[in-house]
Amino acid sequence: MKRLLILLAMMLSLMISSALCEDSDVEVQLDAQHVAFSFAIEGEQYAYVQVTTENDVGKQLLYSENGQFSGAMALPNCFEPSQLTIDVMKLNGRRVYRHTDKTVEVISTDAAAPQDESVRPAAKAYDVNITMTDGGFDYSFNVPGRDEVFLRCKSAQETHTFHLYADKDYTYSGHVQMPFTFPYDTVTITILTANSNHQLFKDTYTAHYTPLPAVNQAAAGRLKGVVVCIDPGHQEQTKEETVRLAPNFKKTTTTTVGMAKGMVTNRRESIVVLEIGLMLRNALLKEGATVIMTRETQDIFVGMLERADIPNNAGADFVLRLHCNNRADETVQGIAIYCPYQSSYAMEVADEDTYREMGNILLSAMQETTGQTKGKCTLSNNYVGNNWSKMPSFLVEMGYMSNRKEDLLMSASPVYQQKLVDGMVEGIYELSIMRGLIQE
Ligand SMILES: [Zn+2]
Repeated sequence: MKRLLILLAMMLSLMISSALCEDSDVEVQLDAQHVAFSFAIEGEQYAYVQVTTENDVGKQLLYSENGQFSGAMALPNCFEPSQLTIDVMKLNGRRVYRHTDKTVEVISTDAAAPQDESVRPAAKAYDVNITMTDGGFDYSFNVPGRDEVFLRCKSAQETHTFHLYADKDYTYSGHVQMPFTFPYDTVTITILTANSNHQLFKDTYTAHYTPLPAVNQAAAGRLKGVVVCIDPGHQEQTKEETVRLAPNFKKTTTTTVGMAKGMVTNRRESIVVLEIGLMLRNALLKEGATVIMTRETQDIFVGMLERADIPNNAGADFVLRLHCNNRADETVQGIAIYCPYQSSYAMEVADEDTYREMGNILLSAMQETTGQTKGKCTLSNNYVGNNWSKMPSFLVEMGYMSNRKEDLLMSASPVYQQKLVDGMVEGIYELSIMRGLIQE
């Protein structure tokens, strides 16, 4: 069946013939339903690639230590030769290369299964069952009287249109992989007639998310005895809350319902900070620390005061409150760390100078690992979670989602996420020594 062919191609197989183009700055190898590419950009560690055919769009962020990049992409809908364009961009959005080509034809002898031709073609799909899986979805449906349809799936990262042939009784079923779609992104699935593009079905789904499982805490490690609370900011659904700003303040504050959203990736801040938060949890556990999370899923509500109560009740030594920044000016970038200073709880933790010094230790450690030179540490009374914490509490804005480059790095690069994590672990280590919790 053609469906099986789709699956094979999606798994990046079928290394048959190849057409090598040496007259371009991008070296491209085209096989059936598959393209591999390599190129060099001197002095760059990251490159953003977009591959477009008549029916597929895929986006990929590549990392390289030395400016030599390579990657591959499935072209699941390229049965017939199609125009192919590969655009290579730096993180600032500037296009470095464009390569155009033709995809390789797939020879197939498949045809639709024999059907009962007396059935009138239906105007909608029936019994549509879509199950989101890690990195894709399963589908099954039924379109009486139609032995072929188009199935289109679209996220911010990729778009594919599949030409499907019915099994007997006009039923359709199979699996589609969407390897570039981020967990919790919106996926729009449409079923169309193959001849006239009439819409038979359309709905939106949330890409599947499996939270990173916790590793075992190391029996020994340089952070043994240190208790860290990680507070990934926001959550999937926000509620408005009004609370007292600090224990010794009369002033109240009301939650701002909004959160940052990636200007290129379209990702929501709440899921990006959760992903990085779970990576941070594992990195700290590996160093022997005890870790408390204020949340480990998207589908939970954690109130503003709860974000301080949780570390207070657990007797945490530090709180890292993870956020991504947002600014109308898209050129602004850098790491911003906020510490409390006039709340009565904060004043018991440390005086202003000490708090600023602690914030700067954390900032320097993160700048060291990420290479991000921009950023600053600020004392502020504006953050409830900081003000109500009875231990050093840092609101860490890891970068700007409104900045193209930082959005791609924070939201789409596990390599950069790990660098942020490494910096925070190093910061916690140095702060633990400073606070006398451990010996150097
Ligand atoms: Zn935030």
